[in-house]
Amino acid sequence: MSQLFQLIAQTAAGGRRARLVLPHQNVETPVFMPVGTQGTVKAVPQDALETFGAEIILGNTYHLYLRPGHEAIRRMGGLHRFMSWPRALLTDSGGFQVYSLSQLRKVTDDGVQFRSHLDGSSHFFSPEHSIDVQIALGADIAMAFDECTEYPATRTRAEESLRLTMTWAARSLAHFRAHSHEVPWFDPRVCCMQCFGIVQGGMCRDLRRQCAERLVEMDFDGYAIGGLSVGEPRELTMEMIAEVLPLLPRDKPRYVMGVGYPDEIEQYARMGVDMMDCVLPTRAARHALLFTSEGRVNIKNRQYAEDQNPPDPACDCPVCRRYSRAYLRHLVQAGEPLAATLNSIHNLAFYLGIMQRVRQSLAEV
Ligand SMILES: [Zn+2]
Repeated sequence: MSQLFQLIAQTAAGGRRARLVLPHQNVETPVFMPVGTQGTVKAVPQDALETFGAEIILGNTYHLYLRPGHEAIRRMGGLHRFMSWPRALLTDSGGFQVYSLSQLRKVTDDGVQFRSHLDGSSHFFSPEHSIDVQIALGADIAMAFDECTEYPATRTRAEESLRLTMTWAARSLAHFRAHSHEVPWFDPRVCCMQCFGIVQGGMCRDLRRQCAERLVEMDFDGYAIGGLSVGEPRELTMEMIAEVLPLLPRDKPRYVMGVGYPDEIEQYARMGVDMMDCVLPTRAARHALLFTSEGRVNIKNRQYAEDQNPPDPACDCPVCRRYSRAYLRHLVQAGEPLAATLNSIHNLAFYLGIMQRVRQSLAEV
């Protein structure tokens, strides 16, 4: 068993309770990772993240590369020090944002030429460059540069996209292995930065299998399943995850990118997914939508105007311990920025609470 991923218990259904050993933090899995797009989990200060137990968060390579720039962050000691986040960080490859945000993309085997969504300036990302940027940012986990196949896609398109992803995965890993010691915090006494490969293949089961097998041969530190939750029905998401999981090594972490709703993340964790991330809890919070043990609560609704109950009576997060539904509704109605902060803290604490309960139940098997 790999020392960097310690399996503690496993159920017949495949659910795993484990510990992921990273340079800045040991992460208890299954884990939900809050998304910190631009070096901040939107509206939530770092000390609040620590209070409700976030052990790992995401940073977005594309955004940080454009602003303030990865070289500036490297000069300031890396992303951990720049944003004052002492725990674990994972950076994505930038690929997904290049496809979803930038303009005038030109994709060749070499990489992607694109224009910044901020000022229209021209940039080029190759697998090597994406890894260089991620090393400069100095996360605990870097992701291979991939192409996220859109949905729906024809089989020909999914095949072509997959060919690119597999070639880019090999180049990403080779470059990572040659340069990972260049992280700003490098210390030969602590464990190294890790690199995860990303399984693509659209909604074709055989392409997913082919990609997983090829990436496993390359021997990444962990494996992500990407290109899901892109508009397909949930049964299809489940089917793709169920197809890929058994092909991945038991002693390495498995990460499903960009999911999901509270019941989804619990379901996937029980199937054997170790890591997940999604902007949903924070984005919904900024739109006054709370996830609670009683279902979804649109806190803007008039019915909460004088409701003295906590947002979620079953939640013991700092927001539910202190504030009422009536107060949260008032903040939203008044357009106060504190609304986004309090709603986001509750939603994230709720998501992390789900994972904590899943971990407990998996450990008791
Ligand atoms: Zn709460």
